[in-house]
Amino acid sequence: MVKVGIPKALLYYQYYPMWRTFFRELGAEVVVSPSTNQVMITLGSSRVVADTCLPVKVFVGHVLFLVEKCDYIFIPSVRSVKSKVYNCPKFLGLPDMTRAIVPESPPILDIDVDINKGTRELFKSIDKLGRHFTRNQSKVRQAAMAAWQAHLDYQQQMYRQGLTSPQGIEAVSSDPATEPETEASHSSPILATIAVIGHPYLLYDELINHRFIQRLEQAHVRVLTPEMVCSEDRESAISRVVGKAHWTYEDEVVGAGEHYLSGGTDGVIGVVAFGCGPDSLMMDIVQRQARLHSTPFMSLHLDEHTAEGGLVTRLEAFLDMIYRKRRQRACV
Ligand code: SF4
Repeated sequence: MVKVGIPKALLYYQYYPMWRTFFRELGAEVVVSPSTNQVMITLGSSRVVADTCLPVKVFVGHVLFLVEKCDYIFIPSVRSVKSKVYNCPKFLGLPDMTRAIVPESPPILDIDVDINKGTRELFKSIDKLGRHFTRNQSKVRQAAMAAWQAHLDYQQQMYRQGLTSPQGIEAVSSDPATEPETEASHSSPILATIAVIGHPYLLYDELINHRFIQRLEQAHVRVLTPEMVCSEDRESAISRVVGKAHWTYEDEVVGAGEHYLSGGTDGVIGVVAFGCGPDSLMMDIVQRQARLHSTPFMSLHLDEHTAEGGLVTRLEAFLDMIYRKRRQRACV
């Protein structure tokens, strides 16, 4: 059976159920790299220029892990998934960059996803991708339809049940009898509700973010994430704040941030990769909105030098600030 490798980094968290369904429907075996470890970061960093953002270094580390473990590695070039809204340039050149810096990689299966070229072009790209597995075009179309349905199911599971991306992937992968644990399963009292916003590859990579979501939960904080908001609500929040989105996945930052701020939350934490241009602009908008709503906001900038101790101290200080603010309100 042909093995297709999928790096557990970058767009994995948004699209893994869709990609897995597509390749399995075409008879391939899907091999996913394990969670990020320090070796991956070190090796990934050694292949790129120093000022590359951490998520891309991590991605390269995952690709290096998959070398010799699969026949192909799937790396799409996602340019645009909404009309006239474009992705960060790093995503556009990901397949070509990987070919250049990981020459020992197995052949890279890439696909150009650009909705501005029309659905006909998109289907042509999907057919081209599917030809690596079958010459039967209708089988490829069926696999594409099954994959799209898997994606919709995944998204619905997350916002209907209030799941994070890893929990959503588990939910659509496992037996319905073994449902993932959600915050509703906990019986401990909730002391605060905090919205954590940012891209899933920053929020759910536990090595680079030092498990800060679990740390908040251990402190009895209810954590809300972008996937728990449906896309319509995120888009309506974007239109209230900036009118029209400029960046793909802006809804994960500005949309989710504004949605939670206007709904009332005790605080917002924005997670950004150090040196990320698009996020520095988007997070600034959320920070301004937080000021308008008088809601505490903290930004966490992650890179490979982010120290666990410093991050824990900042989380503790942020929670102290929220509790102090609440006490002051109670006294007025
Ligand atoms: S959006 Fe930012 S963090 Fe993500 S790949 Fe682009 S530069 Fe890196």
